[in-house]
This record gives sequence, structure tokens and C-alpha cells, in this order.
Amino acid sequence: MAFDYDLFVIGGGSGGVRAGRVAAETGARVALAEEYRMGGTCVIRGCVPKKLMVFASGYSGRMQEAAAYGWDVQAGAFDWGRFRPRMRAELDRLENIYRTNLGRPGVEIFDQRAVIADPHTVELADGRRFSAKHILLATGGMPFKPPQVPGIELAGTSNDVFLMEELPGRVLIVGGGYIACEFACIFNGLGVETSQYYRGEQILRGFDGEARGHIAELMHGRGINLHVGTDVERMERRDGGIWVKATDGREAVFDRVIYATGRVPNSAGLGLEDAGVRLGRGGKVEVDAYSQTSVPSIYAVGDVTDRVNLTPVAILEGAAFVETVFNANPTKVGHTDIPSAIFTQPEYGAVGLGEEEAAGQEEIEVYCAAFRPMQNSFIDKPERVMFKLIVSKATRRILGCHIIADGAGELIQFVGVAMKMGATKEDFDATVAVHPTMSEEIVLMKTPVRTA
Ligand code: NDP
Repeated sequence: MAFDYDLFVIGGGSGGVRAGRVAAETGARVALAEEYRMGGTCVIRGCVPKKLMVFASGYSGRMQEAAAYGWDVQAGAFDWGRFRPRMRAELDRLENIYRTNLGRPGVEIFDQRAVIADPHTVELADGRRFSAKHILLATGGMPFKPPQVPGIELAGTSNDVFLMEELPGRVLIVGGGYIACEFACIFNGLGVETSQYYRGEQILRGFDGEARGHIAELMHGRGINLHVGTDVERMERRDGGIWVKATDGREAVFDRVIYATGRVPNSAGLGLEDAGVRLGRGGKVEVDAYSQTSVPSIYAVGDVTDRVNLTPVAILEGAAFVETVFNANPTKVGHTDIPSAIFTQPEYGAVGLGEEEAAGQEEIEVYCAAFRPMQNSFIDKPERVMFKLIVSKATRRILGCHIIADGAGELIQFVGVAMKMGATKEDFDATVAVHPTMSEEIVLMKTPVRTA
């Protein structure tokens, strides 16, 4: 049977664009539909603008430090009105690059919504239908707000932050995950009075316990009003802002409330159930190790499959799909030992297991150093960095590494390489320190602080 395309990709984010481009480079006839902007969550309303805001917000602390180091600094307020157009221009530039990269190998782009009509047919919003040998779902995810909270319609999400006309004076962030902690640090750094409510005992559930405590302490220290064991009971528009009553009885008024209470797969209304595509909890598209759904001609990659929701993982899944389907080389993506960074201030980089998780699996040694680095002690800045290694007693392999320090996102990338190669504690010990740096500590920790 002749198809209009060999591959029709639905969704122009990181996973879809990579798969579409690489498939077209094999000579396949490829189309891609995107209903919003090319680049998806990462480029348009996620990693990229977030990181630009992280950079912007980091300068306030830097200016204070520069003054302590002897610079004559004129501290000024942050001007969102000057920053925002530059951020927008950068996103436009990146969006164009994505478009160009797709166009070069001949991917046909449709700037509209597409849904699945049957296992080999895609229908566009304008009614046109195309047949395709394979369909790739790469529709990503979207922020979730708990609908039962009275007044929830007054709250925004991370999507709204990038579109703000002006910076709020007082903000409340709800949640304790990646996004909540990153935005709390961003707003705080930009000079906004920042509160954060998290319902659980400690922020960043799922990460290493000691690291979670360390980050929480640093966030408090930088002036974020972090309240754990606290959730929003209800919200009302009142007193010139959003009045929030918390579960611990606290009442406060904010200019903005941002919910960062998780994300859900973007799988509704795409015709998936009718086509026979099996959905799992929360609407995630069920796939096998090759990203194939329950319908053989339909594959899915990225956040819509809710495996590990990170841009580089979606990209790897997209590339592995092309390798499997268009290069006849079945390729799985490993979803373990994935390094990642939480862009709090300072950053938290992690790879592998946290102490609690590792101890639940086997006997371990824990090496940890928390100290004031030279740059901070010189100016009496109390913030400590943290370097932590979890080591298997049996194999000596590094099971987990946790770094909290400026630039931890950059550092953890290299530890990730060492761990992929199966590095042992003795390999770290045998590596000569780079002096004077704070990261030299990672090869100098000789005695375990505890075993478990
Ligand atoms: P997370 O799943 O990390 O965190 C969600 C937070 O919201 C948790 O603290 C959770 O609490 C809380 N929560 C969930 N439901 C409710 C509710 N009904 N009421 C109150 N609180 C609630 O999601 P994020 O939105 O922060 O991030 C989504 C994903 O995006 C991440 O998992 C990550 O994969 C990715 N991401 C990665 C980044 C990076 O690499 N730097 C940056 C940003 C996002 P509890 O712990 O109690 O469940």
C-alpha cells in the first residue's frame, strides 16, 4: 500500500523534531504537525527561558559578593521590561533554527493541530487527511493544577511566568518538585518577595534525603519563605491581590500564585483510544522499550509516555525510534543513571541513586563533604556546598553522586560519564585533584561518613 508519508510526527518539541529530522535524513518522506510553536516545552516554555531567568536572577547575589570582594557596585533593581524582549527574541531565534533544521532534509511542516484518525491516518485541524506508514506521537506534557482547590482558577503555572507583563511584588509557589524549587529561587533572585508551600515533609521527594535538607536550608538562607507540610486550602481575589488560606491556618496576600504541582501527558483528544492506543495512569501512552505503542504503526516518545521527563531523554528516544524503524537497528534507550540538574541557586546535580534508595538495595558506604568553599569563606558568606558519593560495598562502584554547588549542573555531567563507564570509588581515589577547586573534594573523600 502506498502512503503519503513514511512518517508523520505529531508534536514539534525536542523528541518530535529530532525524530523527524533524523528520519528525513535517511531518505524517508516525513511530515510534522505542531499546533503552537516549534521547539515545544523545552525551547518555548521550559528549559531555555527558565535557564535565561536563572542567569538573570543569579546576578543579584553576584553583585553583593562583588561588593564584598572590593568592587564598587551600584546595586539596582531588576527590570523585567528590559529582560523580557531579549528573552523573547532568543526564543524566536531558536524556534527558527528548529524550523530550518527540519526543512533542510525536507520535512514538511504543518502549523496546526493533528489527531489520529486511524492507525495509518492523521487528520489536520483544517480537515486534510494524510496516510502514513508510521505515526510518531511526541505531544509532550502540560502543567497540572489540582482542580478541587477553591479559587484554583486564580493561580497560574510555569507557562504563565514566561508571558508575564510585569514582575509581581509578592509570589507564592505551590509544590516541592523541580519546577517549584527552580522558580522559587528565580523569583527570589529577581527581588520578588517569594513564598513556597509544599504539602510534604521535605521538598524534592525522590532525591537524596541529605541533599534535600541541604537545598531547603540554602533556600531559607537566601530569603525564600519555604513552608513544608503546608498546602493551599483556598484562594480568593481580595485586598488587591490573591488571598490565600493555607492548611496550617496561615493567611497571606500575593500578586501571583504559581502552581508547580506536576505535569500530565498531553494525550487527550488525539483520537488515541479510538485508534486502539493503550493509555496508562494519568493518560500516559503505554510503550515498549522501542517506544512502540499497542498499535504497531504508532510510536510515542518524550513526556507523553511519562517515562523520564527530561529533554535529552526525549531526544534519545526520538533518535532510537528512527534507528529502530528506519535503519533496521533495534535500539532501546537506557533509563538509568541519567544525570540531571535542578537549577536552584546554588544548583543541585544528581546522578544515580540517593542514599535511602541505594541502602534499600544493597550495603553501601556514604562519603559526604559539606563545607564553605574558598570563594564564600573569604567574604564570610555562610553557604556550604555539598559533595556526596554513594558506593556499593560489594562492587565498589559509584551508585550515586549528589553535588550542591554553583555549576553543579556542569559538574554532574562528567560524573555521569564516569558512572556510565562503571567507575569505582578507587577510580575516583586514583584521580589527581585539581587544586584549588571545590570539586577536588570528590576525589579526596577518604573515609565514609557512614555505612548502611
Ligand atoms: P514534580 O513531579 O517534580 O513535582 C510536583 C510537585 O507537586 C511535588 O512536590 C508534589 O508533591 C506536588 N504536588 C503534586 N500534586 C499536588 C497536589 N494535588 N497538591 C499539592 N501539591 C501537589 O513536577 P514538576 O512540575 O516540578 O516537574 C515536572 C517534570 O518536569 C519533572 O519531574 C522533571 O522531569 C521535569 N523538569 C526537569 C527540570 C530539570 O531537569 N532541571 C526542570 C523542570 C522540570 P509530592 O512530592 O508530595 O507528590
